[in-house]
Amino acid sequence: METKKRKISIIGSTGSIGTQALEVIEKLQDKFEIIALAGGRNAALLKQQAEKFRPKFIYAQTPVSVDGIKTVDTLDDICSNKENDIILVAVSGKIGLKPTLTAIENGIDIALANKETLVMAGDLVMQKAKENNVSIIPVDSEHCAIHQCIKDISQVDKLIITASGGPFLHKTIDEMKNATVEQALAHPRWHMGKKITVDSATLMNKGLEIIEAHHLFGFDYDKIDVVVHPQSIVHSAIEYLDGSIIAQLGLPSMHIPIQYAITYPERFEGIKSKSFSFADIARLDFEKPDFIKFPCVRLAYDAGKTGGTATVCLNAANEEAVFAFLDGKIKLYNIYEITAEMLTRHKVIKNPSINDIFAADEEIRHLTREYIANFVKI
Ligand code: NDP
Ligand code: MG
Repeated sequence: METKKRKISIIGSTGSIGTQALEVIEKLQDKFEIIALAGGRNAALLKQQAEKFRPKFIYAQTPVSVDGIKTVDTLDDICSNKENDIILVAVSGKIGLKPTLTAIENGIDIALANKETLVMAGDLVMQKAKENNVSIIPVDSEHCAIHQCIKDISQVDKLIITASGGPFLHKTIDEMKNATVEQALAHPRWHMGKKITVDSATLMNKGLEIIEAHHLFGFDYDKIDVVVHPQSIVHSAIEYLDGSIIAQLGLPSMHIPIQYAITYPERFEGIKSKSFSFADIARLDFEKPDFIKFPCVRLAYDAGKTGGTATVCLNAANEEAVFAFLDGKIKLYNIYEITAEMLTRHKVIKNPSINDIFAADEEIRHLTREYIANFVKI
């Protein structure tokens, strides 16, 4: 018997995750029907995708039109359409939060790539998902790995998140401090959007992932460890109470976690099936993270433990500082200094409402931009 096609929309279809998701869907075309595709400024690519995949609806920040396909006005128009079985949230940065909440309120399952959503509003998002009986399946490779390892969460003692270490793992602090944008964007293992690639160079990405894991799996911060693993073959692991470690392994390719998240709980042969060989990998290395060279990880642990709007501040200040770095206004290490300064100044609101979160986000971004404008390069 033929199974029903899963109805899916992708927000952020023109990005790194979005384009790879479409490759996964192309391979599994008899399993999916695309309801909507949404992008930002790359309307030309969105048009190409729409012509190829023929969704019912499209959205872009810049004007776009395709014969026979309706253009909608907002991401919310897509995320409130109950025709969807699942929505892949693959926009980057704070843009992901509102459409994710809309989809949850409409009872639509989420494949979540956009980690910033949980960093900003993890308590609210997870609570709403529970109330609306919505599954949030992580796309982020580490969290997807943990999701695959967990059989009985009550018997898991801790989560072990792996980190590739980024392009500056074996460089000196000075080399890192003086890195050019080009050097920071040269990630050794993953080809991703610019924002997450810079986050991977400072290891803030790992910091954001610790907070993401806390919300997705409900573990205290002292039960979430980070280990550096340069080959990016072990995508993360969990330790059970009896000392057994279960890890998930695979090639460093986002096709696998994307496919897992959008087909869960089923599995199918995909683009990267049958291409892994232990003998070819030959060795796996692990080392402790250097919190002195990469202080963003410690900053994220502290913000996570403080809770409330502290993680909104971490996310907003970091994102603004990353944009300033990409614009050549500040140096790489300044991202940490600016984010730390904004966290020191921020008056944390405990148990914030969604309006508190959006207001805090706006205010922190404004203050961060102001601070950066007066910032002297060091
Ligand atoms: P990209 O920058 O490559 O893609 C971002 C996508 O969001 C693009 O399609 C972009 O459109 C779209 N977009 C941006 N702003 C808007 C907007 N206002 N309205 C609608 N669409 C918008 O990012 P990535 O794919 O690398 O990352 C996406 C998310 O997934 C991030 O949160 C990241 O942390 C997470 N992630 C990514 C991984 C990866 O391997 N890339 C791994 C794990 C997590 P356009 O290009 O048309 O402007
Ligand atoms: Mg990741």
